[in-house]
Amino acid sequence: MFTRLFFCLLFLSIHAHASDFRVGAAKVDITPKDGTPLGGFYRFRGSAGVLDPLYAKTIVVEKDGVHAVMVVLDLSGTVRPVVAAARKAIQEQCGIEGDHVMISGTHTHSGPQQPRGSLMDDITKVNSPPGLAYINALPALIAQSVKEAKAKLVPVTASAAVGKAEGISFNRRILREGQQQAIWQPQKLTPKDRPAGPVDPEVGVLLFEAAGKPVASFLNFAMHPTSVGGGVKISADYPGVFTKLVSERHNADMISVFASGCCGNINHGDYITGKRRTTLELGTALADATDAAWPTLQQLKTFQPRIRSQQVTLKRRTYTEEQIAKAKDMAANMFTKEFGTVPMAETVCILETIAKQNEPLLAEVQVIAFSHELAIVSLPGEIFVELGLALKKASPFKRTLIAELANGSIGYVPNREAYPLGNYEIVSARGEAGSGEKLVEVALKLLGEIKAGQ
Ligand SMILES: [Zn+2]
Repeated sequence: MFTRLFFCLLFLSIHAHASDFRVGAAKVDITPKDGTPLGGFYRFRGSAGVLDPLYAKTIVVEKDGVHAVMVVLDLSGTVRPVVAAARKAIQEQCGIEGDHVMISGTHTHSGPQQPRGSLMDDITKVNSPPGLAYINALPALIAQSVKEAKAKLVPVTASAAVGKAEGISFNRRILREGQQQAIWQPQKLTPKDRPAGPVDPEVGVLLFEAAGKPVASFLNFAMHPTSVGGGVKISADYPGVFTKLVSERHNADMISVFASGCCGNINHGDYITGKRRTTLELGTALADATDAAWPTLQQLKTFQPRIRSQQVTLKRRTYTEEQIAKAKDMAANMFTKEFGTVPMAETVCILETIAKQNEPLLAEVQVIAFSHELAIVSLPGEIFVELGLALKKASPFKRTLIAELANGSIGYVPNREAYPLGNYEIVSARGEAGSGEKLVEVALKLLGEIKAGQ
């Protein structure tokens, strides 16, 4: 039996030729040492202990020498200097062009912080020796995961399906009768409340199989990974459970990668029942939704990867003298007084915007496709679900997966209609109203170009 399998594999490898569509996947541990500053909240937390490890997970896709790379980090997001350094290392070590590499973060709130060049760096102490040691080591670890994935390239078939996970994600912005401003993250709705927008229940599933055996999956869902809470223990949050279960159930050796969808305003806090689902419950619900969709996986007709990437210049917000003075005053007292998340977020955003007003607000939009039926879009921020849904709907591809917090981050990216309703995500948005729509417009243009084979 084993001999037969061996000869079978040998036969396959001999007969794999250059024009095959190939995929390789790998993961490299990026769990920080104790004492590393964590991200996700407006306060300092030094890590102490590990609930579950963090990874840089990579899928390399190749045909006829053209590569496309999807890397997802179990981190709160990505920052440009780390992305640039990682792309450079990948180019040098793997011979893959930097702009063929998409690097995104899952948005776990229980992982290390990365420097953002704002007051946030002082609040989280990310520029302390343990914080910098972590950041400086990260690009090489990302390149390592790409190197390992590339070394494992095998001929594959690709297939895709869409699952549905209803009732686990919630639009965290609420409109209350008679109130102008949106309410943020209520515990439970009152009869006067209704969600300010939709959710996206779709679970995107992209599977790669070599000789019928799953070797890599790329999974996509829109919900903030905040279920572990604001403690000091490291965790990949629900994406860690979700990807682990999908691999365990289908092939323990498979690398399952989770890309965070457009979840800027989507949380797991269930204000209908008042229940808070655990990390395990959320990850299991998504793995179950994936399993339910598994029999509907449809094979994709693959072609050589096509990649487009564009830097978009967005307009920064503008503020009144009064708002600026108030922010400066609060910043001066930030380390001695408690202000709450929303005023802290607003102050950080105003002062960053003032300090960088002569710097362009750059946002990279990237698209990768290797089939007429499916494309992967990346956007650099915490994108509101309305924008993600609009992009999926208008996309010329049957299935469009979206990785947010990719290739850097400009923070929250609300849809235009949300700006006048205010509250947390709006006061922390760097771009003026319309920025999100501009990103969607550019993504659609790139999708159209790729679809047309340009
Ligand atoms: Zn967030």
